[in-house]
Amino acid sequence: MDRSLKVISSLIFIHCSEEDIYLQFVLQKLSRKLLIKMEYIHMKGGDEDTSYARNSTFQRNLMSKSSSKLEEAVRKVVLLCLNQKTLISSSIGVADLGCASGPNAFILLSDIIHAINKICSSDEIELLPELRLSLNDLPGNDFNSIFASLPDFYSTIKPDNGGIGGCFVSCVAGTFYGRLFPRRSLHLVHSSTSLHWLSQVPPELQNSGEHLNKGNTYISKSSAECVREAYLRQFQKDFFSFLRCRADEMVPGGQMVLSFIGRVSPDPAAPEAAQAWEILAQALITMASRGKLEEEKIDAFNAPYYAASAAEVEAVILQEGSFAADCLQEYEVRWDQGFHDDGDQSRVLMTKGQRFGRMARAVAEPMIEWSFGFGEDDMDELFQVYDNLVDDHFAGAGAAAPYFINLHLSLTRKDN
Ligand code: SAH
Repeated sequence: MDRSLKVISSLIFIHCSEEDIYLQFVLQKLSRKLLIKMEYIHMKGGDEDTSYARNSTFQRNLMSKSSSKLEEAVRKVVLLCLNQKTLISSSIGVADLGCASGPNAFILLSDIIHAINKICSSDEIELLPELRLSLNDLPGNDFNSIFASLPDFYSTIKPDNGGIGGCFVSCVAGTFYGRLFPRRSLHLVHSSTSLHWLSQVPPELQNSGEHLNKGNTYISKSSAECVREAYLRQFQKDFFSFLRCRADEMVPGGQMVLSFIGRVSPDPAAPEAAQAWEILAQALITMASRGKLEEEKIDAFNAPYYAASAAEVEAVILQEGSFAADCLQEYEVRWDQGFHDDGDQSRVLMTKGQRFGRMARAVAEPMIEWSFGFGEDDMDELFQVYDNLVDDHFAGAGAAAPYFINLHLSLTRKDN
């Protein structure tokens, strides 16, 4: 799509007359918009108070829920390499896809190293394997802070700390909906809280020339059937590409552990899938009523996000055909779970809305800044409104506090 638009716009540039200059301009703007469509999906970098690094204990809690599945996958990988007699002669390739920045990425790598050590020592394997650990995210991610933390990470995994035979970390910038690694180079793939991000807003919603999902930021009860269908199609296409690319990159018998936000209800507008986006839409509408943005911008905005059901996920795995699903589970995660203060006293007195809002801001701020042009003050105001709305939800929900559904999958690369 991008390439064809580029070709069309450059052809028009060559052939069109001066009167068509407006058409050139529109096409060039359109192709630029499509080319940079993913730039705004990245968590807030750095280590300031509102950064992802300082506001990701919620996601860390989600990641920890798959730790037993990760350990199981590591065991299968070690056995696979032992059987193929490559455990020591070669290295184990591991990738974390959608690593963001901050402590979570390194906690995951430490968990993997710890699991390999545990398995090797329980199976009395004396020489420890070497690891190629790759951290992947989109190019807008704050990779600099990952690089800056590498020396500390390496010092924690030295052999005298019970470390691994050799461990080589690299960062790979690019979309996981395309190829990232050489053929058959990976034994273990992990991804946590990332695959609900689509590769783009469904094209039907951005190219039709009219706003098909007015007043919403994602699928909601008022969204038309065509909006729901467009989102599902985009998820199917993206998840298929994700599996197909990993199938090329992984060795047969390789393991994949994935977890991401989904839903249990067949209805994509069910609260567990859509409530957080509905609250964002309400907060944006409040900002519009205060003259901080035009409502038309809210009508034009649609999140590149999809909370899939287990059935939708399974259907794509079957259709793609390269992986066997060993396990697919759904966990309910309340919006007030997993927030740790990390020793920060200023957070102790925060309301549930403020805690949840901080996490939501660290995730959504780059996207909101890009889409609505908000500066720091407007962003602060938007999230004050958002926090209050979340508090209202908690107050009104009683025992049934708002929650997400987290889908957990363990997959094996088949021999085909
Ligand atoms: N795994 C981390 C980060 C989750 S946040 C944790 O559990 O804390 C989700 C991350 O996925 C973000 O950093 C975002 O930039 C990344 N992401 C979203 N779409 C992506 C894509 N297509 N390719 C690679 N990374 C992507």
